[in-house]
Amino acid sequence: MSMFEDIPVDVGVIYEGERIRRKDMQVELGGPSLKEKFELAKVKPMNEVEDGKITIIGPDIKDMEEGKAYPVGILVEAAGSTLEEALEGVIERRVHGYLNFIEGFMHLNQRYDIWIRLGKKAFQKGLNSFTYIGKVLYKLFKSELPIIEKVQITFITDPAKVKELYPDALQTYEARDAKARGLKDEEVDKFYGCVLCQSFAPSHVCVITPQRYSNCGAISWFDGRASAQIDPKGPVFAIERGELINAEKGEYSGVNETVKKRTLGDVEQVWLYTAFDHPHTSCGCFEAVAFYIPEVEGFGVVNRSFKGVTVNGLPFSTLADSTAGGRQVDGFHGMSIEYMRSQKFLAADGGWNRVVWLPKEVKERVKDFIPKEVVDKIATEEDAQNIDALKAFLKERNHPVVARWEAETAAVEEAAPAEATAEEGAMIPVASAATLPIMAGGFKIILKDAKIYAKKVIIRSMKDEKKT
Ligand code: SF4
Repeated sequence: MSMFEDIPVDVGVIYEGERIRRKDMQVELGGPSLKEKFELAKVKPMNEVEDGKITIIGPDIKDMEEGKAYPVGILVEAAGSTLEEALEGVIERRVHGYLNFIEGFMHLNQRYDIWIRLGKKAFQKGLNSFTYIGKVLYKLFKSELPIIEKVQITFITDPAKVKELYPDALQTYEARDAKARGLKDEEVDKFYGCVLCQSFAPSHVCVITPQRYSNCGAISWFDGRASAQIDPKGPVFAIERGELINAEKGEYSGVNETVKKRTLGDVEQVWLYTAFDHPHTSCGCFEAVAFYIPEVEGFGVVNRSFKGVTVNGLPFSTLADSTAGGRQVDGFHGMSIEYMRSQKFLAADGGWNRVVWLPKEVKERVKDFIPKEVVDKIATEEDAQNIDALKAFLKERNHPVVARWEAETAAVEEAAPAEATAEEGAMIPVASAATLPIMAGGFKIILKDAKIYAKKVIIRSMKDEKKT
């Protein structure tokens, strides 16, 4: 792009989706090792914004030690005669897309969760100051969103200043989310879709409805509407809701059609309010993952900033890997924290009556939206660190999932005599998965929605195998 002649590296859509590994990074900004980081857009009166001004508070990139992580705040202040506060969320989310256009620069996540890396090669080419990063943002904001007449950008890396501004940023996000609550999916005839994350997950489309916030937690239905209006050719677009096919699961004909088209046929059906069969896809930016725990027939939820291992022994990163990539994985569901405040939150699966474990910090954040009769029955890392402890906790508190165990035991007992007679030659289910890749003879065979049964299952250790 010729408008970036004064930037020492290339800038363009081809760099979207570029990953920078730890060994290749010059510096990290924000990320999981630091608590306080944020990016925030504010709409200001015309006279309070100096167009093109770029400010750096704290050390610049060239003053940072190679291989280290630094706190960061990115503040985008914009003004325009028709620019409204309601567009702040839209402007803010563009930071993700625009920064990823820069060669050797990676931006992940959103809001208070941002994770940025600058690659060594880009640094060696001369990308050694936030001034360049600010210039790219400035030029893209002005050329892509003409509604913005003036914009100034501030990078804050001084740890004390980031810490000071962080609570204000959190408050702004909460106020924005609160405004978007109340409207119901049934009350609108348009939903919104976002494909900003297709650079990382090509078969992912976020379907944003009034009651299902985007996975990243950065785009509400109102933001979607505003974004599609001011930038109709941008990554956010309207979806005609179409016919309601299944109210409980949240299936709409218009959603199916749009998702099929936007994923080139990879995803044909989406059920918005469930984590099973045809769940909403997950890119990689989700704030949290709901994961099914078959032993207790309930869901655990873990958010990105949870540092320990969850109740099933896996950390967020492993669960996120099982969920991400634009796939529909049975029992794994990437989502926003705000979705947990919605009445449609996993509604087809039992909603909060099905949630059995979540980090204490998340529980505190969404407590007011958990039905009173179940809130004390959901364990946190303080109540249960493994499945056995979780089972005992749920039983002791009489969590609603316990009734499912009892119902199942009764059904199994009833069915037992029939099973006993059919035991000889009976088929045992050995695997079931939404997508099951098998490598054979140089080919990769992908089974969709597979359930595999076998007459006999032989489990042999690799050591035994070698001996024989
Ligand atoms: S998570 Fe969804 S809504 Fe958020 S930027 Fe990615 S595709 Fe768009």
